[in-house]
Amino acid sequence: MSKQDFLGLIGEGTNRWLGMDASYGAKHAWLVRHHGKPERCADCGIQGKDTGSIRKVWNIQWANISGKYFRDISDYRPLCISCHRKYDAKDRCKQGHLRSKENTSFRRIDGQRFCKLCNRRYQRNYEIRKKNGKTS
Ligand SMILES: [Zn+2]
Ligand SMILES: [Zn+2]
Repeated sequence: MSKQDFLGLIGEGTNRWLGMDASYGAKHAWLVRHHGKPERCADCGIQGKDTGSIRKVWNIQWANISGKYFRDISDYRPLCISCHRKYDAKDRCKQGHLRSKENTSFRRIDGQRFCKLCNRRYQRNYEIRKKNGKTS
């Protein structure tokens, strides 16, 4: 499997992931050095193994919990590639904010879920633009 294929598979093809990738790489190396490769997925319980035919890839990754990538193992959970992807899609907005109950709301118009932190930031930027007379 090519690197491109692999990144596509685990959903690292988007800008969000490209941005996180650099810090993730370094932190991940630190995690593996200090804590080894995760043995089991904390969600589905499958056992870790090498996957990929060209480049061997360990199928269980350290998933970050807080989104801040602390150098602390309690901020990470071992998840397999597919659980990691699900976890990511489910629990984080596009900007990586945690989708907690408090931080999640629904649009009145179409019922779509949105991140309050992002919404607040958006509103603030809008207010600033308005003040500067840049809305037209
Ligand atoms: Zn899993
Ligand atoms: Zn957000």
